[in-house]
Amino acid sequence: AVRFDRVSKSFGTLALDDVSLTVESGEVVVLLGRSGSGKSTLLRHVDGLQRPTSGTVTVLGTDVGRAGGGELRRLRRRIGFVFQQFHLIGSLTVLENVCSGALGRLRGPRLGLLSYPKRLRHEALDELDRVGLADRALQRADTLSGGQQQRVAVARALLQRPEILLADEPVASLDPESSAQVMRLIREISAERRLTVLCSLHQLDLALSWGDRIVGLRAGRTVLDAPAAGLDRERAMELYAGVAAEPA
Ligand code: ATP
Ligand code: MG
Repeated sequence: AVRFDRVSKSFGTLALDDVSLTVESGEVVVLLGRSGSGKSTLLRHVDGLQRPTSGTVTVLGTDVGRAGGGELRRLRRRIGFVFQQFHLIGSLTVLENVCSGALGRLRGPRLGLLSYPKRLRHEALDELDRVGLADRALQRADTLSGGQQQRVAVARALLQRPEILLADEPVASLDPESSAQVMRLIREISAERRLTVLCSLHQLDLALSWGDRIVGLRAGRTVLDAPAAGLDRERAMELYAGVAAEPA
């Protein structure tokens, strides 16, 4: 579904350095690496927010580096996003926030819940049910806990029926229990819908528990690319110490 072929990205310094990576449909790939290692930059190449300085990024058949504006917009409709800051609109209800995820599927701006087609409101409620928050639908979003807000953000991302989900440190501001809950949810939904997931994380334990594959970045280079299941924790700690260490 996603292919990086010898991708480099320079901002003066190299943020990505000769990265090659293939992510199959339905796979959950976790990106690990310390601050500044290139995780967010890599994710931004998947939806064309950034284009490679050299090399090729191919996503769902689109050559992202060469795609025109219309082609990129069509591609982005097939990609969902979840961020560290949940980016919900606190003064709106939970259900309205989820509905707004379908704007890519609708024409024109929307004001208020009733401006969304009934079928869509039902779909939004189904997605909320899937993340375990149907009973909160009519509550203001800013009355939910962080973990609940992130689950709403996941439901919102799902409403546009993405084939790929990009999650940039989705649990970085959550407590351990909520973090595990959000990662479990993403993992289960990926399996149910054959959703391809690229997710950056800081914690090795979460990566081992919920990733199919772990990709370690250091100073823009991939220094680890291994199935999570095959990695024992101690070995992974060694590798992760390598991933996390300052580049020589
Ligand atoms: P963090 O864990 O802190 O989120 P990260 O792994 O996501 O870090 P990136 O944000 O991808 O790291 O940054 C990788 C490198 O590229 C850093 O050195 C950063 O300063 C640089 N960089 C990223 N985006 C830009 C930009 N738009 N302009 C200039 N430099 C950038
Ligand atoms: Mg980042």
